[in-house]
Amino acid sequence: MEILKSEKKLCHNCMQVHDVKIVRQEESEWFKGEEVSFPSVFEYCSNVDGFIETEEMIRTNNLAMKDAYRKKVGLLTSDEIISIRKQYGISQKGFSELLNWGRTTITRYENHQVQDSAHDAILRKLAKDPKWFIEILEKEKHKLEEKTYLKYLEKARKVYSKMGNQYLTASIEAYYARFQDQEIKGCVELDTEKVVEMINYSASRIRYLHKVKLMKLLWYSDMLHYKTHGKSISGLVYSALPMGPVPEKHDCLIELEGVHCNQDSNNGKMRYSFRAAPGFKPAILQSSEMEIMDRVIARLRSMPTNELINRSHGESAYIKAKASSPISFGEAENLSMDFPVP
Ligand SMILES: [Zn+2]
Repeated sequence: MEILKSEKKLCHNCMQVHDVKIVRQEESEWFKGEEVSFPSVFEYCSNVDGFIETEEMIRTNNLAMKDAYRKKVGLLTSDEIISIRKQYGISQKGFSELLNWGRTTITRYENHQVQDSAHDAILRKLAKDPKWFIEILEKEKHKLEEKTYLKYLEKARKVYSKMGNQYLTASIEAYYARFQDQEIKGCVELDTEKVVEMINYSASRIRYLHKVKLMKLLWYSDMLHYKTHGKSISGLVYSALPMGPVPEKHDCLIELEGVHCNQDSNNGKMRYSFRAAPGFKPAILQSSEMEIMDRVIARLRSMPTNELINRSHGESAYIKAKASSPISFGEAENLSMDFPVP
């Protein structure tokens, strides 16, 4: 028995005013053919050595019992149901109506009633599949006021893009797991948030930042930081492609949330340019890293693309790497491009 607190009040056990202890202990009960144990809260009276539950405690203890049962049989708990609903910023009643369930169904599930397994499966799918939520929203649009519909839609789109970003980040990291050699990783683990910041930092300082320049800028920044501080900034692995050093998974990197990339085509060729996120301020880049980036940006800012490509092709790190294979940071000390300290 664990004592949570003690307060002086009228005890409903012995009907006298004294210090009543609020205690918690593990209880066991049978529910729907399952024995479940769960933490229960009571008031304890030392005068009669007895326990009593207030109305509130009866509700919480009942919920704790149901949640223990839900966990045991593999159903969502009440808290999980609440968080799925809140992820879409929708009310209990609104959620029930959208799913064509009884108006109070979600309210009951979030409280005392154990959901049936078909409803449980639907809630689980909704937790992971915001696109499906948007489809339901479209289908049931007629039930909602325009304003409410738009509010739900905006929220669901945010969930969708956030989840897409999580998948994207996970897939980039899974790909990078194959690179174990420290000289190839620049002695740091890939940090995609930092990559996003590096892109924004560069874009905030170069008016028209196109992809070729950005790729070289990231590489030279990581190389110069490695040369100066013994490790790269981002943890990106760069390969020797015909157009010069390019980070592995560069196509995915520019899709990351927070990267603002414009695409247009010129004579049938796709062009990508980058601008800084509105109100961008570096939050995780360290000052030593920004100092290095400033030196690289100052050098590359107005260098014509062809010259930039030629210069990177002339770097010994690039020359020594096998075609389409990772470039070693070990060659950083032999960088031929100079980056004057301002
Ligand atoms: Zn008492």
